[in-house]
Amino acid sequence: MSLGIREAREALKLYFGYEQFRPMQEQIISDILQQKDVLVLMPTGGGKSVCYQVPAVVMPGLCVVVSPLIALMKDQVEALLVNGIPAAYLNSSQTADEQYKIEEKVLAGQLKLLYVSPEKLLSAGFFSFLKRLQVSLFAVDEAHCISAWGHDFRPEYTQLRALKQQFPAIPVVALTATADKLTQKDIQEQLQLRQPKVFLSSFDRPNINLTVLPGQNRFNKITDFLSRRTGQPGIIYCLSRKATESLSAKLRENGYNATFYHAGMSAQQRAKAQEAFLRDDVQIVCATIAFGMGIDKSNVRWVIHYNLPKNIEGYYQEIGRAGRDGAKSDALLFYSFADVMNLRTMLSDNDKAQNELQLVKLERMQQFAEATFCRRRILLQYFGEQMGKDCGNCDICRNPPSCFDGTLIAQKALSAVARSQEKLNMSLLVDVLRGSRNSQVLAGGYDRIKTYGAGRDIGTLDWHRYLHQMLNAGLFELAYDQNYTLKLTALSKQVLFDGRKIELVKFEDAKQQTEALQKE
Ligand code: ADP
Ligand code: ZN
Repeated sequence: MSLGIREAREALKLYFGYEQFRPMQEQIISDILQQKDVLVLMPTGGGKSVCYQVPAVVMPGLCVVVSPLIALMKDQVEALLVNGIPAAYLNSSQTADEQYKIEEKVLAGQLKLLYVSPEKLLSAGFFSFLKRLQVSLFAVDEAHCISAWGHDFRPEYTQLRALKQQFPAIPVVALTATADKLTQKDIQEQLQLRQPKVFLSSFDRPNINLTVLPGQNRFNKITDFLSRRTGQPGIIYCLSRKATESLSAKLRENGYNATFYHAGMSAQQRAKAQEAFLRDDVQIVCATIAFGMGIDKSNVRWVIHYNLPKNIEGYYQEIGRAGRDGAKSDALLFYSFADVMNLRTMLSDNDKAQNELQLVKLERMQQFAEATFCRRRILLQYFGEQMGKDCGNCDICRNPPSCFDGTLIAQKALSAVARSQEKLNMSLLVDVLRGSRNSQVLAGGYDRIKTYGAGRDIGTLDWHRYLHQMLNAGLFELAYDQNYTLKLTALSKQVLFDGRKIELVKFEDAKQQTEALQKE
């Protein structure tokens, strides 16, 4: 048995009332007690807090916890105090006097844990204050915020690199519930962790069924979905505040017990909506992504994404609010190309480097939505986990798509792009292929190219699906100009000129997919 782990087990029982550690907790704590740096990746609810709270109790000195979520600090500290562990927090919500009193306690050695916001940690004089104390451990919570690769980048977090420079001898534990592979690497580098062990707990939530449906007639599809889930609590995530309000109004008109939640509401209104949901007084919350952080409701049976999320991290966190109790739950995502375009426009508000990164993340999200193999595999792979087999609990596994030789279809589309000097965006390309006589087609003279009307036999919607597949397969590149014009690639030239064959996936129509969902 390694150093101190016996004390750690006793502390777990004495202060937290738990008989044993969860898988990984013991190894993590043992490493920390040996003064090693560690990176912990565990899904929400996995039990990350114990990983630093137990060492904080058994190690001599003070554990300093850096957390960006001021709203959650209070809860954490209160929970510790209830368990008999002396703890406090310091952040900008307190008066100078309040802060002074806590600093006195810290200096008197009366606390085991001190939660601080990154701003407070980096404020003038705070490092020299810490140097007067015996600090046992630094815990950096929500560590993905340090990385510009992450989806929740907070520039002030990057200054946490100063921790190792100022306190080289003190172990650092970084914790997060969401970090893709690049972000994981970035956390280690930025915090200058010394040969850290990385603990990646499984992110798999096998009880959540994953389904993606085309975005047409969303409202009808939602009521259809709800008709089979009478009274079951769930969340519908929408992109805009306005949409949460109008959707919840429409649901109420249709007899559903729904409300809405977004960051534009007063704190009081938000608390009211949240409590109603927690107490099962309301079945459905239509919300922006502001909803859910720190909400501990284990029986959420379903999560719907009314719009495509910006990235996979966000999507996975949001669907993870369903089925915490382990019982069968559903995640339903609506996907439309219009949403992608909308998100692209929204992202262009960022600075250039961030914009490009967010675009790549959005593309990954889009690829997930258009997946032709097990969706769970794609998700777990994204977080660095390999699944040995298909999950059997996603729409693709239940209804594997059939492929056919799509070379001719691809050639028609690629040839139209080539003959129009790569000036077409996706909808104009479909118009040209289908022989439309709309003004844009005529103005561009595209009715005179050889492939005009060559794809009349395929419907508009199907053309869009095939083109997305071609895009995902690398047969097109989307130029990030105003029009998102389609450009040919090396691969598309092989298909056009060298007889390379292309497989396309035959899409079930929306009705069949809905039926597949019903059979579940
Ligand atoms: P996270 O920070 O990863 O979201 P928490 O630390 O809040 O997760 O833990 C989630 C829940 O699991 C809490 O209610 C916590 O008390 C409980 N928990 C943590 N470790 C154990 C354990 N070893 N045995 C039983 N319950 C545990
Ligand atoms: Zn699957």
